[in-house]
Amino acid sequence: MANQDSFDLIVIGSGPGGYIAAIRAAQLGMRVACVERAATLGGTCVNVGCIPSKALLDSSERLHAVRNGLGAHGIKVGSVEVDLAAMLARKDKIVKTSTQGIAGLFKKNKVERIIGTARFTAADTVAVSNGSDTRRLTGRRVLIATGSAPVELPGLPFDGQHIVCSTEALSFKEVPQRLLVIGGGAIGLELGSVWNRLGSSVVVVEFMDRIVPGMDRKMGQQLQRALQKQGMTFQLQTGASGAVVESGTVRVTLESQGTTSEAECDVVLVAVGRRAFADGLGAREIGVAFDDHGRIKIDDHYTTSVPGVYAIGDVVAGPMLAHKAEEEGVAAVELMAGQAGHVNYDAVPNVVYTWPEFASVGMTEEQAQSQEVQFNVGSFPFIANGRARCMNETDGGVKILADAKTDRVLGVHILGPNASDLIAEAALAMEFGASAEDIARSVHAHPTLPEAMKEAALAVGQRTLNI
Ligand SMILES: Cc1cc2nc3c(=O)[nH]c(=O)nc-3n(C[C@H](O)[C@H](O)[C@H](O)COP(=O)(O)OP(=O)(O)OC[C@H]3O[C@@H](n4cnc5c(N)ncnc54)[C@H](O)[C@@H]3O)c2cc1C
Repeated sequence: MANQDSFDLIVIGSGPGGYIAAIRAAQLGMRVACVERAATLGGTCVNVGCIPSKALLDSSERLHAVRNGLGAHGIKVGSVEVDLAAMLARKDKIVKTSTQGIAGLFKKNKVERIIGTARFTAADTVAVSNGSDTRRLTGRRVLIATGSAPVELPGLPFDGQHIVCSTEALSFKEVPQRLLVIGGGAIGLELGSVWNRLGSSVVVVEFMDRIVPGMDRKMGQQLQRALQKQGMTFQLQTGASGAVVESGTVRVTLESQGTTSEAECDVVLVAVGRRAFADGLGAREIGVAFDDHGRIKIDDHYTTSVPGVYAIGDVVAGPMLAHKAEEEGVAAVELMAGQAGHVNYDAVPNVVYTWPEFASVGMTEEQAQSQEVQFNVGSFPFIANGRARCMNETDGGVKILADAKTDRVLGVHILGPNASDLIAEAALAMEFGASAEDIARSVHAHPTLPEAMKEAALAVGQRTLNI
């Protein structure tokens, strides 16, 4: 009989990277354990990230549509009330269903779930403590998938009540009257949108001269204007250097181009990014090398500097996204099994779930220019798309960048309704090395939003039909 504490693969962390890797490894015939220190499976994404934030975004989007979007359709509504407790309970139920679903998947795939905090005692040995006792596991291989943690700003330490990270901002028991969001990236804008729709007065402070840095600049500016119309306020090129909490009010010190000012609010949400998390893991002690950002260094087989020890997801370099972690999990274990696991990092979509949504895959114009890549651009606005007009959702458009010589798609940027769904066609096209003409010649159902993608592809060859 096999030693109950000996595994082909020990996965540390059950986020989208870890749990997916564990299931795929079990499918490939490995005896797998997945160690998770939290009481529920699913990591940041399922418990305090993607899923609860989208649940609140979906609920608050409905509220916004009822209050502001139905008049144009000829629908009059009376007074509308928010039951915040019910909205939060719905979100919690979705999280619970999702975490229990992973537990079920582990049973189905015979992945052993081990509750406790893992710490390396040797490259092939992990001690798991759950408070009362410690279990020693040995593994032919160990995969680190310990994820990330929110970055704290000097001068604004989290207190869980007035100066908070995204986790608390998913569960405010009351709508804060004044919410100051530090950071104009995806998490700050999404949670800022939720509470703005629910009635908070939201100010977003961003250190750069633009929100969503790294995404298409013009579309980022369009998104900012759309959010301003919804009532959000922005202070760009501004940083927060300190905060004082007095009688329930937070006074935040802001620095902007040599000028110091003060902002008052009830709650500060610090959303300035996340850091790779490997605290207390003992990885350094066994010789695992880290980069200057505290991320675990890996090679293109996801192997760390210690043979037999692998790492994936937010704890390694690359975009901190659930689907990136998942794909790395699958690729890492397939490579362990001698298969040809691979992640195409040029085709990882990125979505900001505001309204309008902002989604992109591949290069921006700025990136192509800085790499001296010659490209053609085709754009198409949603105002010229029949379905978008039917929906009364005409903000934004689609932009496609294609290589000037080969016409191969280099990047796609979408600001508009359902951009998070529309980007899938672009990611697939890029995965298959499609040209803009390939997209332009594919039959798209009418009337649909994806026709804007086809028209943008036609625009690359300067032959749009509907504008
Ligand atoms: C508010 C918010 C919204 C987000 N929205 C999106 C989105 O819409 N789309 C998207 O793609 N991404 C989103 N993300 C990012 C996404 O959640 C992460 O990229 C993803 O969870 C990373 O997966 P991971 O498996 O690498 O790590 P994680 O999900 O962080 O999981 C790591 C797990 O390891 C466990 N762990 C750590 N150390 C130990 C140890 N020593 N022993 C045992 N267990 C340990 C942790 O408890 C955790 O459960 C969001 C994040 C936040 C915070």
